[in-house]
Amino acid sequence: MQHRVERLRAVLAEEDLPGLFVSAPANRRYLSGFTASYGWLLVTPTDAFILTDGRYQIQAGRESPGFDVREIVNPGKTMPEVLAGLTTELGLKRLAFEAAHTTVAEHGRIVAALGAAIELTPTEGLVEKLRQTKDEPEIALMRKAIAITDAAMDEVAPRLRPEYTERQTVWLLEQALRERGADAASFPIIVAAGPNAALPHHRPGDDPLGEGRTIIIDMGARLDGYCADLTRTVVIGEPDKRFWEVYNTVLAAKQKATKGVQPGALAHEVDALARDHIAAAGYGDHFGHGLGHGIGLDVHEGPFLRWTLPGGTSTPLEAGMVTSVEPGIYIEGWGGVRIEDLVLVTPGGREVLSQAVKLRGS
Ligand code: ZN
Ligand code: ZN
Repeated sequence: MQHRVERLRAVLAEEDLPGLFVSAPANRRYLSGFTASYGWLLVTPTDAFILTDGRYQIQAGRESPGFDVREIVNPGKTMPEVLAGLTTELGLKRLAFEAAHTTVAEHGRIVAALGAAIELTPTEGLVEKLRQTKDEPEIALMRKAIAITDAAMDEVAPRLRPEYTERQTVWLLEQALRERGADAASFPIIVAAGPNAALPHHRPGDDPLGEGRTIIIDMGARLDGYCADLTRTVVIGEPDKRFWEVYNTVLAAKQKATKGVQPGALAHEVDALARDHIAAAGYGDHFGHGLGHGIGLDVHEGPFLRWTLPGGTSTPLEAGMVTSVEPGIYIEGWGGVRIEDLVLVTPGGREVLSQAVKLRGS
């Protein structure tokens, strides 16, 4: 983890920040390896601290040997009080905090404890930006999470029956993930059958899968904190006439966009490769979400592959980024098709990490 802390220190130096107070659990885990549900970090150019309570003292020492553990005592010594003690000890006059991960109430308590002598500087995305490019241990964990996900999909999808409900199917998939060693599903599994598949993030219910209808399955394993994410669209029995046209359009859009994933490509350009293909096929109004998202400790993280808003910026892809490529077409009253793979940006281009079987048809 030490090299990750050093990368953050380089950012702090660049931004002229004397220290960062880290609140986001994923950022904390990324920098320190500390996996508990309760804790904060303080990172300065020379020091690194974990603030947590008595439940996690031993764990913090084991998981994060490079960090000095300071105890929050409930009741007795609150997190803001421990932080105030540290800033005084270190002589800090200014401290950056994660604005997107600090509630107004928490900010108020910290301000009250630190007093007027210390200026709190809001920052956004400092650690998240580092997390966009994965290091080797992260890529190794993601490969495992993805392999579990692929195997679970390949086991369950061919065995689905028309009478299974969406909820039953979710359970079969979740079991298959867990049996292969996943800690959990990385997000609530989506199974959307027939017209429900027109809703990109349908909540599974008691509708049966049925025959000849599109069924979108979107799922992933979580392993040691790292997430996988995979979508396949399947049909039990013979699909209707429209299906192959829509499916092949989505598949071709995915293949075009995947070929565009490489170092230096701008996120919105890769999105456009798929979007333009879908629009040219006459389905431009039926693809209402971004092409893809980065993934790692969070299911959705940067870079985001989507259009840019006026005045917005687009992230250039870099080797080490892992992104989903997941175009879809959704038609109200009929259903939908989405196909999603995870892709690693490599120095020479890309490697498609997801290997679950896809429908092949005419
Ligand atoms: Zn997904
Ligand atoms: Zn996704």
